[in-house]
Amino acid sequence: MSSFRELGVGDRVLKAIEEIGFETPTPVQQQAIPLLLQNQQDFLGLAQTGTGKTAAFGLPLLELLDENLHSVQALVLAPTRELCVQISKDFESFSKFMNFKIAAVYGGASMEKQIREIKGGAQIITATPGRLIDLIERKVINLKSIRFVVLDEADEMLNMGFQDDIEEILSHTPGEKRVWLFSATMPVEIRRIADRYMQNPHELTIGRRNEAAQNIEHHYYIVNERDRYAALKRILDAAPEIFAIVFARTKHDAQKIAENLIKDGYNADSLHGDLSQQQRDKVMSRFRSRLLQILVATDVAARGIDVDDVTHVIQYHLPDEAESYAHRSGRTARAGKSGISAVLVNRQEMGKIRQIEKKINAKFHLSKVPGAVEVCEQQLMKLIKKIKDVKVNEAGIAKYLPSVMDELAMLEKEELITRMVSIEFNRFLDYYRHAPDLNVDIAHSDKAGAGKNYADGAKVFINLGSMDGFNDSSMRKYAEEVSGIKADEISHVIIKGVYSFLHIPVQKLPLFIESFTGEVYKGRKVRVDSGNAPSGAGGGRGRREGGGNKGRSFRQDDRPFRSSRQDDRPFRSSKPGKKEKMKRW
Ligand code: AMP
Repeated sequence: MSSFRELGVGDRVLKAIEEIGFETPTPVQQQAIPLLLQNQQDFLGLAQTGTGKTAAFGLPLLELLDENLHSVQALVLAPTRELCVQISKDFESFSKFMNFKIAAVYGGASMEKQIREIKGGAQIITATPGRLIDLIERKVINLKSIRFVVLDEADEMLNMGFQDDIEEILSHTPGEKRVWLFSATMPVEIRRIADRYMQNPHELTIGRRNEAAQNIEHHYYIVNERDRYAALKRILDAAPEIFAIVFARTKHDAQKIAENLIKDGYNADSLHGDLSQQQRDKVMSRFRSRLLQILVATDVAARGIDVDDVTHVIQYHLPDEAESYAHRSGRTARAGKSGISAVLVNRQEMGKIRQIEKKINAKFHLSKVPGAVEVCEQQLMKLIKKIKDVKVNEAGIAKYLPSVMDELAMLEKEELITRMVSIEFNRFLDYYRHAPDLNVDIAHSDKAGAGKNYADGAKVFINLGSMDGFNDSSMRKYAEEVSGIKADEISHVIIKGVYSFLHIPVQKLPLFIESFTGEVYKGRKVRVDSGNAPSGAGGGRGRREGGGNKGRSFRQDDRPFRSSRQDDRPFRSSKPGKKEKMKRW
């Protein structure tokens, strides 16, 4: 693998990206940068979002432009205002040690400022199509000296109805120029644009067409329609550190789900087309800076969202098109990270999962909506992490310490810890005591279909879980390594904190158990057992979900910990704004 220097990036850009922290080029950069630097041909790159595309075209572009030429030399078109601003910010960072003037031109913001920037000698313009046309018509921008046009997320631009605008913009540019087009998918309309406006483009496919990113785990949960919302909350509750985008089908759904989540004490907000540009900006800026933990969005509003570190994309409803699924799920697992795309479906929708699997060439895992035990366990782990990470206010607490110590002097360390932790944990357990199992029992359904394997497999307990660093796929790999049973023969994996369950073919059960004899993982003896967690598998971890729905109903109010805790926000990166209400996260 080559370094950025070996790819041909110059010293000043190298210094800038080193400051940003780019060490190794991503695959799309590896392939695109040397090609684009040669500047021999137009370029058509099929690459997912979040793969480092911006630098893949941005770095060569900066090398190829002339700082001393004070005219518009490069135009980058992007589908959304957010992406447009992001690209211009990235360009500012990449060119920190150069001398370029960059203007971002997009709708919903003051035109005067943008006009000033253009007239001030902008050499690079990043733009959304609508506003650019406006400015061309007002004769503020002259594209006659353009040498490079980049069409970023071209398929998204077409989806958003910008085809005519793009064609019009291109008609204002000189014939002698390079066009670089990036797209996550290759619909016929893109091919048509390529045929019409590009000359003999060099085509590069990074990842397969229409394929979802490799490092995304796809999970689906089968629930009754009436339990959709409660299931969403369980998923959120079982992942206390989640940083998620929830996709809804309509603006109304997005608004309603967000309102309900807020009412239920979650740190959530909505993003959809009925909000003003100002409101959307505000929501996005809170999400970007992680003041907001859960963004509930429609497909259109979420296009081009390029926030790193999104841990989960949750699809409250499946999209109508499989291609939208790839776009949605691509909002996680950016920049080489991994992520989870979780889908809630009812029984009638299970067939769609298979269609999407085929389309994106990825496998979905049937997952169980977390039950009481799992939620409590995860919240407990979060509490322990909080205790470990808490900043002690030495001065503030000092005067109380002697009497506190005195009161607690009789307790042994272990007992003390148990009691402290129980204060919170009992509350979790109490709340979830009667929480119903929200999973549809497809094994006993006449439409079993997708769940058949799961029902057929033998359930095996193993005393390793997420606390040991396992997730669904690494557990499958590990089980395969030890037992020789292929990862994809394991129909279902449930990862818990300190243990997991695997569903394996019944006839292979003896072999599986046998193969773990004497197995040690990171110094710990590995135990496997058929069936449920053996008693004593850790703190009463037998499954308790589905304990009936006696007493109060959890449907409307599935909130375990609507607490008065004021400090429980792991995602707050800076001081809370005055209006920022204290939330449960
Ligand atoms: P993009 O696909 O351009 O939106 O990039 C996705 C994310 O990856 C952005 O946060 C970039 O800053 C980051 N990124 C791009 N290239 C690299 C690299 N070579 N090393 C580390 N991070 C990168």
